[in-house]
Amino acid sequence: MGRVAVVTGGTRGIGAAISIGLKDAGYSVAANYAGNDEAANSFKAETGISVYKWDVSDFDACKEGLAAVEADLGPVEILVNNAGITRDTTLHRMSPEQWRAVVSTNLDSLFNMTRNVIEGMRERGFGRIVSISSINGQKGQFGQANYSAAKAGVAGFTKAVAQENAAKGITVNVIAPGYIGTEMVRAVPEEVLKSKILPQIPVGRLGEPEEIARSVVFLASDEAGFITGSTLTVNGGQYMI
Ligand code: NDP
Repeated sequence: MGRVAVVTGGTRGIGAAISIGLKDAGYSVAANYAGNDEAANSFKAETGISVYKWDVSDFDACKEGLAAVEADLGPVEILVNNAGITRDTTLHRMSPEQWRAVVSTNLDSLFNMTRNVIEGMRERGFGRIVSISSINGQKGQFGQANYSAAKAGVAGFTKAVAQENAAKGITVNVIAPGYIGTEMVRAVPEEVLKSKILPQIPVGRLGEPEEIARSVVFLASDEAGFITGSTLTVNGGQYMI
């Protein structure tokens, strides 16, 4: 059995590709999800990957969920913080609920998950933590003050935790995807995609979820041990920092 990897939001979209990529690379994978049992069950049936339902914005739920994973599979050595949501609207229309939901799912979740695995990783002297941010956390995005703030926070969290744990064999990194061809993006009308989105991407196409998955597999590997506190931008050249 390979190292144990937990992928939050690992049953759909980019997270599903990450779960499959890690499984194919030999990891023992636990895919977490929030509530879409139908999607989770069909993902489990198709891939054989174990699925676990809990809300990453709830600290105690993360603690219990991770305890269940560790009882089934063993100590968690790879954590992929991928779960995320959007509640888009301009700030002058944004409700406290829309702010809170996005910040708690996209950013509080990093504390909730990482806090519950970090002591074990430190004791064992090995860990890989990879968090999925977004191009919109790097450049800001109209209608996404909540999402841009949360995703920018992912990088600050990562740099601090990377420093605290570097001497313990733990790396902590960020992947910042650009436009990826998930259901959400593919639902955009073809003409909008062609006239507005693709012209902004020098590579001339959307990214594939598997391209994010391959980046995660690399950062999770033993060979990536000298990379920590980094943000790997995977956006087809749309925004270069
Ligand atoms: P999807 O909406 O396709 O999937 C989201 C996954 O996260 C689902 O498995 C969902 O579970 C889970 N999830 C949502 N909220 C919670 C929660 N509170 N607790 C546990 N699980 C939760 O997302 P994408 O694949 O599009 O995005 C994945 C990540 O990549 C996100 O962090 C997103 O911000 C980021 N990203 C996406 C881009 C894109 O182009 N798609 C671009 C840049 C970044 P359930 O199925 O039960 O709802």
